Amino acid sequence: MSRSLTRSNLHHRKALQKLPLGVSSNFRYWGADKTIYVDHARGCRLWDLDGNEYIDYRMGYGPGILGYADTRVDEAARAGIEVGGVFALSTEREYDVARRISKMVPAAELVRFSNSGTEAVMAALRLAKAHTGKDSHIIVEGGYHGVFDAVLWYTDMEGWDPALGDPPVEADSDGVPRMMRKLAYFTPLNDANYLEDLLKQSHHSIGAFLIEPIMGNCCSITATREYVQAARQLCEKYDVIMIVDEVKTGFRVARGGVQELMGVRADLCTFAKAVANGYPISVVAGREDIMRQVGDGVVHGGTYTCHSVALAAAEKTLEILDETDALETISAYGTALQRGISGILDARGIPHSFVGHPSMGGLFFREEPPQNYRDWLDSDYSFYDAMAAELHERGVLCEPDSREPWFICEAHARDDSLERTLSAFENAVDTTIEELDYRGPHEHAAST
Ligand code: PLP
Repeated sequence: MSRSLTRSNLHHRKALQKLPLGVSSNFRYWGADKTIYVDHARGCRLWDLDGNEYIDYRMGYGPGILGYADTRVDEAARAGIEVGGVFALSTEREYDVARRISKMVPAAELVRFSNSGTEAVMAALRLAKAHTGKDSHIIVEGGYHGVFDAVLWYTDMEGWDPALGDPPVEADSDGVPRMMRKLAYFTPLNDANYLEDLLKQSHHSIGAFLIEPIMGNCCSITATREYVQAARQLCEKYDVIMIVDEVKTGFRVARGGVQELMGVRADLCTFAKAVANGYPISVVAGREDIMRQVGDGVVHGGTYTCHSVALAAAEKTLEILDETDALETISAYGTALQRGISGILDARGIPHSFVGHPSMGGLFFREEPPQNYRDWLDSDYSFYDAMAAELHERGVLCEPDSREPWFICEAHARDDSLERTLSAFENAVDTTIEELDYRGPHEHAAST
């Protein structure tokens, strides 16, 4: 079975003439003959230039919380067009949306809007550093927080020799000034002792602890409630601002985000993806005393901030998420999907586990899910990688990189997508077993 990507491939060659890698975000490039170009998308389905139809579990890396082209949100966005765009002035609606966010997320005492997750996290770090007067920050190993220099560092697990101490940290991009490295400290998730030692040693220079408790760019590896709460106390003890990055989890895993799930209140928190069902808007929010520094020493702004279309879409999306059972529907679908997948894998004796939240679950081919990115090293990803390619052939679009969770939207629950996904999954697993001559995790690991 082989899907045709003829038109996508042809377009890729053309696009290369004007766009580096032929795309507008590095992560959208999947290789010369695998890069997909979208024709259109509706609900949970997406069609490429060749007419291939997919049930999408990427949902743009999370923004599609209700589904593509949701009529309720698009109608609001159309009304937003009538408002006129951006004015270098504010509109009344900003207050209404901010009030809704404060209602849903108690930590969001005050709110500022931006356009992207990157901008929101940048603003949060700046506010934290302004507040504490300390220039450095802590990032959790494996965490991703956007494309700006202060956070564009990755822990090189593949190049790590545990005998030599902590894993090496490398710049995630050429052009990131090496001198910025000094500003970032790293800590493994779910190890409160490590965090405490780090703070004991270096708290004089650390102004912020940046954490995404369900690591949406690292297979949804999840912090324990105990760890998050211990981290909360350590931040207080050492005068460090706790920033919970909810760019992926916000308005998705619960109305009050991961903070509600884990019973923790951030000093500052950031939101983006689910805020407006895909229209570009993001949020930095938090404690009043910290947020009031905006305008009192801290700069925050941007020409396109609060475009009337995105803001109107945000107002409608948040209203739906807050006032209907959309999130319960999403979670129930995710749970049913995981149950179905487990049934298929169990029947074939394939050990596996899920982490994260059913609305953004990570699938591991091992019994015990990793506790942090160091643990992740022990997993075998060849089965996932081969299976993902088979799923694409069968019209199920999951991320080819196993580090990205499966995103569910409300529209998944509205048609026969569960049945179709599970049937494609069963097929893809059987083909992968055959292709890899898979004889169980140990035999397979030994032969790879
Ligand atoms: N923070 C987290 C947790 C993210 O997952 C992302 C993007 O995936 C970002 C920040 C950056 O957001 P954006 O891509 O909108 O700049």
